[in-house]
Amino acid sequence: MQTLLVSGGAGFIGANFVLQAVADGLRVINLDKLTYAGNLDTLTSLHGNENHYFVQGDIGDRELLDHLLAEFRPEAIVNFAAESHVDRSIDGPAAFVNTNVVGTLALLERSRDYWKQLQGTYRDAFRFLHVSTDEVYGSLGAEGRFTETTPYAPNSPYSASKAASDHLVRAFHHTYGLPTVTTNCSNNYGPYQFPEKLIPLVIQKALAGASLPVYGDGLNVRDWLYVGDHCAAIRRALAAGRIGETYNIGGNAERTNIEVVRTICTLLDMRYPHAEGRHHESLITYVKDRPGHDRRYAIDSSKLQRELGWRPAQTFETGIAQTVDWYLSNQPWVQRVLDGSYRMERLGV
Ligand code: NAD
Repeated sequence: MQTLLVSGGAGFIGANFVLQAVADGLRVINLDKLTYAGNLDTLTSLHGNENHYFVQGDIGDRELLDHLLAEFRPEAIVNFAAESHVDRSIDGPAAFVNTNVVGTLALLERSRDYWKQLQGTYRDAFRFLHVSTDEVYGSLGAEGRFTETTPYAPNSPYSASKAASDHLVRAFHHTYGLPTVTTNCSNNYGPYQFPEKLIPLVIQKALAGASLPVYGDGLNVRDWLYVGDHCAAIRRALAAGRIGETYNIGGNAERTNIEVVRTICTLLDMRYPHAEGRHHESLITYVKDRPGHDRRYAIDSSKLQRELGWRPAQTFETGIAQTVDWYLSNQPWVQRVLDGSYRMERLGV
């Protein structure tokens, strides 16, 4: 059985990945610091499952990493752990550098030393997969898409810290030979996303009849990918990605922010009629733009499709409908995030 050390596996994408991997028969050692973004509620279905071992800890803790690597001897490390919210990075960039740069460096160093002492086929098979974002490439005009050779031009403290971590991963491959693969993915959405991000935020606010904030003119464009498709792409890159390479992952689903919000409103109108018979769209309110807000991201994932045969299973229309339905059916999960009780157990309250 393959054993993976997954960092950040209590966050949005990491937890979706862990649930998928364990369901597919892999053993997962899940290392997560449980910041505000880490949520053990997401993993309750794995309670008592001997193929999931959760450890609360920091990717920057070298002693803990040495212990976990020696104890569990993983065949691969998948690094999701990060501070991930752009608005928070504008208010407080230091935490982003600490985890995304300094933490990733510690994980790389300990992974390198562990990999070096592996033998034979075990050593050949080992991979360090680093999960990153398309935001490292900066902003596009109306034309073109990011490819793996697009120069890095990060514009927010978040994307700058992720860019730095990508460079460290690249350097550890070129300098020490560590068998790395990096993936740069577009905006994800789907079950278990923290309700500070656009899609779950809009769903929750609409359900509460509150105004739906849209930055600037609402015409910033993002490429949206359903989280399950992202996780499947990472599994493909882990299994068959070429060492030292990077792979862009995207849904080929460019939408302006206002289109995304309107789509959610329409789906909610059909499923959850507004109390006063109004359309949810009437709640849309334009707010002052985010400083340095990138205008457009679009990703070319043809390398991944060509080399590894990956295709997204969901279109934006099917994925967003499933996501709205998931939030409507899982309000207790959301409410425990909103009232803070999801953090109580781990704090011993
Ligand atoms: P998230 O914020 O939901 O989860 C991050 C997880 O990392 C949390 O569980 C948190 O507790 C944990 N963590 C934070 N600091 C840690 C540390 N020092 N040590 C151990 N664990 C720590 O993020 P997400 O949206 O699931 O994103 C996961 C990864 O995917 C990130 O690296 C992010 O840059 C990347 N990514 C995200 C998106 C997206 O749309 N969300 C798109 C592309 C790439």
